[in-house]
Amino acid sequence: MGIEDDGLATAALGRVHSRQYHLVTRTQRPAMRLLAVVLLAPVLVAFPPSSSSLQAQGEPVATVSPRNSRLRIERLLRDTPIIDGHNDLPWAIREDRAAPHDVEAYDLRKRTSGMTDLARLKAGMVGGQFWSVYIPGERNDPAYVSQGTSASMPGYARVQLEQIDIARRMIERYPELVPANTASELRAARKQSGRVGSLIGMEGGHAIENSLGTLRAYYDLGARYMTLTHNVTLDWADAAMDAPAHGGLTPFGEEVVREMNRLGMIVDLSHVSPGTMSDALNVTEAPVIFSHSSARAITDVPRNVPDSILSRLPKNGGVVMVTFVPGFVSQAVVDWGRNAEAAQRAARQQPGADSASVAQAMDRWVAVNTRPRATMGDVADHIDHIRKVAGADHIGLGGDFDGITETVLGLEDVSTYPALFEELASRGWTDVDMRKLAGDNVLRVLEEVEKVSARLKTERPPSTKTIQQLDSPRP
Ligand SMILES: [Zn+2]
Repeated sequence: MGIEDDGLATAALGRVHSRQYHLVTRTQRPAMRLLAVVLLAPVLVAFPPSSSSLQAQGEPVATVSPRNSRLRIERLLRDTPIIDGHNDLPWAIREDRAAPHDVEAYDLRKRTSGMTDLARLKAGMVGGQFWSVYIPGERNDPAYVSQGTSASMPGYARVQLEQIDIARRMIERYPELVPANTASELRAARKQSGRVGSLIGMEGGHAIENSLGTLRAYYDLGARYMTLTHNVTLDWADAAMDAPAHGGLTPFGEEVVREMNRLGMIVDLSHVSPGTMSDALNVTEAPVIFSHSSARAITDVPRNVPDSILSRLPKNGGVVMVTFVPGFVSQAVVDWGRNAEAAQRAARQQPGADSASVAQAMDRWVAVNTRPRATMGDVADHIDHIRKVAGADHIGLGGDFDGITETVLGLEDVSTYPALFEELASRGWTDVDMRKLAGDNVLRVLEEVEKVSARLKTERPPSTKTIQQLDSPRP
């Protein structure tokens, strides 16, 4: 996410919205944060990984001891460490309450207050990371205040550049984080024990401010993927969490995809509407990714990928990197959130209702309606489903750590990936498939994207098309 919210914490927290899912940031809405703490405290207690990971789903695996299972996974991930698609650490650094924007103060050599630091990356056997340089899509976000301009864009490019700066300084600061701009650099870093090949992934096409020149400049600064939208529909692309305005991509949106193909920037379809997914798949000449999305057939929320799109991945070559956002992986969590929202609406409609009475009513509601937790088994169900529909060559992992306000049981931080692989091993997964999931698939995508880029650069020059030319042609 860039502070992905499944919307469920929000549901009980007093925001009225026409949409079911909202973006919530930890720092922007302190009152909500306080309420979230009250509501979620009982479920934020850390649990040890569940022993249910040893229970097979119809596969006889009783002979595998926990110790052997752990050794098998450690051996496997030593050879093929995790390459994760999405981690919001740069935003966590920006928004840190004690020292905002301060890469040096947010010391990854110590245990951080968040979900990511060097020791936990090592324990999690992470060998590659796309660091998200998320920026909010909401024009009235506090990030965009105070520039005093009357430009049509509220400062997306400035904040995007600030985030790229934070990510680059963070990567520069630690020898353990090795800058990787190409597949071969990522491959080399991943082979070095204790090193994390570090790439930059942009979250939200609003950052290009409708300019292909801006897009190219971001590529030169290291951006290797871009989600076409975040939660807000753009002038040229529909977002999953917003009202559609174009039915997918406009002609300029298609040109953005083509130019990303030419540049060698991966087209990331997390956060976009199914119409945008479909249009992008029609236009792209290179494989796509979903850097942090799960399966809609398992958990029916707009941020997940429908089967109709999953089934197109074998032809495209792309990869869905399954995310660990509780409200995207657990239908029970989703349903609880919807019920909480309904209870809150009802409380508001009581005669004389005010914020205090609504809060009290919700306290009572939550006391009798225990909030469920998403589990590692839920995440494994998504991975299994995507493997079934799209195939083992089209799955990966994009945990969204430091972009989530609550975690899946057993997947609390970046140290927990091996436990998920133990769960999959207990379900009968082969080493070959687990290596693909761990990172071989996304590495293949990056290689393909580079090959397509090399070819396209011989076929056409940088595009100088504008949104005015393509989307509002003169009669
Ligand atoms: Zn996101």
